[in-house]
Amino acid sequence: MDATWTWFREKLSERQIDLSEEQLHQFETYWRLLVEWNEKMNLTGITEREAVYEKHFFDSITLSFFVPFNGEIRMADIGSGAGFPSLPLKICFPYIRLTIVDSLNKRIQFLRHVTEAIGLRQVEMIHGRAEDVARLPEHRDQYDIVTARAVAKLNVLNELCLPFVRKGGVFAAMKGANPAEEVAEAGRSIRELKGELEQVYRLELPFEQSERHIITIRKVASTPRSYPRKAGVPLKQPLV
Ligand code: SAM
Repeated sequence: MDATWTWFREKLSERQIDLSEEQLHQFETYWRLLVEWNEKMNLTGITEREAVYEKHFFDSITLSFFVPFNGEIRMADIGSGAGFPSLPLKICFPYIRLTIVDSLNKRIQFLRHVTEAIGLRQVEMIHGRAEDVARLPEHRDQYDIVTARAVAKLNVLNELCLPFVRKGGVFAAMKGANPAEEVAEAGRSIRELKGELEQVYRLELPFEQSERHIITIRKVASTPRSYPRKAGVPLKQPLV
């Protein structure tokens, strides 16, 4: 066990996430494939092993420090890109039923390859815009947890993500250092999409010590028929 695996395992064990050798190997294969495919397509600016473990894998898993991942929850990751945060969470919590939505097919192909290579089951991958997929009855108002990292500002994200959340479920947005302004601007979108701001959690990455925030929004009623608006509109004309 090298230094990277040792700290990774220890830091997660402090949070009652005890990784097996097999899970560590799944992370390692994921890192190798990320680096290999990144030469052919734009997946991430971070490829150095230690940095990937901290800024992608560990960072993704921090969601579970604040939002419970008990049992066979249904989770959706909107704009997952190279699989963050959902694939590291799926490796740690294999029983979650995961749906990934991304509008770039090349990234979906990468994710299919990774999940097959590391043997993850119950992962549905959808190539499409969140605005369109959220109109399908099998995805609308269905998920216990919906998440997104580095996709858009919170008022846009609310329109892309809250339609997927079931009543009583939670949308958890993973944000960087200073989310206060975004949160202040998101009031209308939260109300319109039938959410209620619950918490803004703050954390630091273990070594780099950069600040992160996780914003949780509880869904209090079904999505109104008028949302989400047509693909592209939430970004062009954000609810303010
Ligand atoms: N979540 C990943 C992360 O944290 O590394 C990827 C972030 S990447 C900057 C944003 C991703 O969101 C891209 O893969 C893009 O294709 C996807 N995306 C942007 N708008 C979207 C939409 N309306 N519906 C689905 N995917 C979208």
